[in-house]
Amino acid sequence: MYNRRKFIKSSALGASLAAISTQSFAKVLTGADVERSALPVVISTWPFGVAANEEAWKTLVKGGRALDAVEAGVKIPEADLKNHSVGKAGYPDRDGHVTLDACIMDEQGNCGAVAGMEYIAHPISVARLVMEKTPHVLLVGDGATQFAVEQGFKKEKLLTPESEKAWHEWLKTARYKPEINSETKTYDPNTAPGSKGNHDTIGMLAIDTKGNISGACTTSGMAWKIHGRVGDSPIIGAGLYVDNEVGGATSTGVGEEVIRNVGSFLVVELMRQGYSPEDACKEAVKRIIRKKPQTAKEIQVGFLAINKKGEYGAYAIQKGFSFAVCNAQKQDLIIDGKSFY
Ligand code: ASP
Repeated sequence: MYNRRKFIKSSALGASLAAISTQSFAKVLTGADVERSALPVVISTWPFGVAANEEAWKTLVKGGRALDAVEAGVKIPEADLKNHSVGKAGYPDRDGHVTLDACIMDEQGNCGAVAGMEYIAHPISVARLVMEKTPHVLLVGDGATQFAVEQGFKKEKLLTPESEKAWHEWLKTARYKPEINSETKTYDPNTAPGSKGNHDTIGMLAIDTKGNISGACTTSGMAWKIHGRVGDSPIIGAGLYVDNEVGGATSTGVGEEVIRNVGSFLVVELMRQGYSPEDACKEAVKRIIRKKPQTAKEIQVGFLAINKKGEYGAYAIQKGFSFAVCNAQKQDLIIDGKSFY
């Protein structure tokens, strides 16, 4: 089994985990900060979040910045050729174009995003450069690709033979129907993560040893979408929102419903009012269902949130949503509130 317990015991990361829980915490966190002894922490959506969190943890455990951690973390599923819902190898739109969406937000409220970007394998890193090197927040389509190339990114074909085959198969019926929880359903702990679903997103939130929060969100969106369709994932406030005073939230699932309700912003604002992360996610889900009751039967939307104290929680329309969590105490996959490892 691709076993977390074994991994924690045997790996260099396991050694770091042990070290930080006994010594580094005492050094980094003092006084009131001791209450936040669950920090640093990183959480992310779906089983592919486990490997992404492991990567993010390497930065957090060294006392690095949450922003660097989330960028490094989500690059893992972006590069995974077995993952067909994030990054390179993402399933294409109905015309065969692989178009990627991503956004990133830091502890100062800075943010950057790209949408409908083709030919660039790491949209999250382009989003970060939009944030850091331009006066803008969001670049789309050819403009985003052009910017990426100017910044030194390699232009490459993103449609892999496997994705192309799946697209040809889909063309036989050409029926657009987002699947529910395909990540959790097809998860096999004996193999590396991958993703067999026709959509799903990695949304990641991290708090570093200084207590600063950042988030990242990246996806190839809905497989077989209309060319030009953009979901919630690159939209600040919808797919991701961070307010360093309060916490952060991210979403996955049918992005249209998240955009309609400005979902992640809503979750953060509810936490500001005193809701726990889970209750804030639940209220946002309820609002989606109240406005469009048929969503309760037909689609999945999941929210994942963390507050300033490092408490986290999630809620989704359908059972079966999962998220990964990594801090000094544990690395875990939580499915319907239950620990998987
Ligand atoms: N939210 C993404 C989108 O609508 C897809 C997903 O997370 O399932 O593009």
